[in-house]
Amino acid sequence: MRLSILSGQVGGVGSKIDYDRRPMPKQEPFERVRNFDEVALGYTVDLAREEASRCLACKKPACTAGCPVGIDIPAFINCISEGDFAAGIRKLKETNALPAVCGRVCPQEEQCEKTCVLGKKGDPVAIGRLERFLADWEAAQGPIEPPPLPASNGMRVAVVGSGPAGITVAADLALLGYSVTMFEALHEAGGVLTYGIPEFRLPKAIVSREVDYVKSLGVELRLDYVVGKTRTIDALLTSFDAVFVAAGAGLPWFLEIPGENLNGVYSANEYLTRCNLMNGFLFPAYDTPLKRASRVAVFGGGNVAMDSARTALRLGADEVHIVYRRSREELPARAEESENAEEEGVIFDFLTLPVRLIGDERGWLCEIECRRMELGEPDASGRRRPIEIPGSELRLRMDASVCAIGNSPNPLIPMTTPGLDVGKKGNIVVDEATGRTSRERLWAGGDVVTGAATVISAMGAGRTAAHSIHETLSGRHGGAER
Ligand code: FAD
Repeated sequence: MRLSILSGQVGGVGSKIDYDRRPMPKQEPFERVRNFDEVALGYTVDLAREEASRCLACKKPACTAGCPVGIDIPAFINCISEGDFAAGIRKLKETNALPAVCGRVCPQEEQCEKTCVLGKKGDPVAIGRLERFLADWEAAQGPIEPPPLPASNGMRVAVVGSGPAGITVAADLALLGYSVTMFEALHEAGGVLTYGIPEFRLPKAIVSREVDYVKSLGVELRLDYVVGKTRTIDALLTSFDAVFVAAGAGLPWFLEIPGENLNGVYSANEYLTRCNLMNGFLFPAYDTPLKRASRVAVFGGGNVAMDSARTALRLGADEVHIVYRRSREELPARAEESENAEEEGVIFDFLTLPVRLIGDERGWLCEIECRRMELGEPDASGRRRPIEIPGSELRLRMDASVCAIGNSPNPLIPMTTPGLDVGKKGNIVVDEATGRTSRERLWAGGDVVTGAATVISAMGAGRTAAHSIHETLSGRHGGAER
């Protein structure tokens, strides 16, 4: 039974529709800007049940069609409004091994929530916040029992990389009876969830919990294992029936302008990894130094740029600028994240392009020369093309800069895997419907195929490949020759 909050009546024909989503409590900007604790605090039980009760339980739910991993959204929301949270988390985990992560960082406004019918006249149901609520409820009361594992089918699959794509394929295949080993180059699992997205948006304890869930399904995790160096893909193929490459896109792009070798100039990858993975914000208690700059410029306008700018503030910077060559309308970051950054005091320099980094006599960055831009006709991405305004040079006084303009896949695996087709930007080429590469028994998915994208698209690619691997291997008798 659904309770309409506005009318106070049991839902159904004639009950009033509630168009206002419940806000989620957050830390206040003045408080959160100097700590690394999570900004959004999550729904209470009452708020979650109220929000869940807004769902109209559509017969043909457009929200589920908008989810790349096909979560049965009305079903888990119904469990919340009924107060049966254990059933809700079980329902979620049927299709999503990372609900606490997706509930926090998925761009729901572009996916499931975009297609919610309530969004036509008011606020869509806060699907992401409800997903997070269930995952947090489970964490607080102790894990629900993992689903029953089938008997082993005797086949072995290697997964390269432990980010969202790798975790999804590993969980899906373990639940189908495969013996799965996940190889990770770093000393911690989770991919960008661990080394990229900061603690204040995605606490690391949550990522470890989700990794533990996958391990509870019997997945073996091998850390500090660089495939392509420790062992090649071909070597893995001699002992595994199939290999899935989910090595992400960890190679940062630079602006290719003078001065990028100065001290105080970082890629977002390095800046965030030093802070998140190596605990640089706790230097000298941890031995990874990270410059405590007072004026920081971040180049780019996506989630990575917002995370870098907000990290710089928390590291004690007095002034942090986002320098972005297009306008506010084209910002690729989630609206919630750019709003959070603005609330915290990040200054946005729109229509501004850095053209030169200038150093002092000791080789440290001290100024950035920029040029103003205007917007022309739309380019291939559909966004209006930024055009430089001649004679519009300006200088910004800065002692650190962070470049967050994009990433490509690392070339190591393509370089050491003969016969693997690779695209112009170094991405592994696959058949979209299956995730198959040009090599036999080798699949790939996530950012290593698409270039830097989203957590949920990487998970969707993992799911697609798991189906295809299962179809292929279960069509054969026994395992591969070892
Ligand atoms: P990754 O998460 O990159 O994982 C790849 C893993 O493979 C890594 O752990 C890497 O160490 C390992 N690896 C690489 N090479 C090898 C090798 N040779 N051998 C063994 N292991 C290897 N997406 C969102 O949806 N919402 C957000 O809010 C968001 N914010 C982001 C913020 C930042 C700072 C960044 C960097 C990205 C953000 N993204 C966000 C993007 C999202 O995190 C990625 O699209 C997603 O993590 C890709 O998943 P993946 O599994 O393909 O790769």
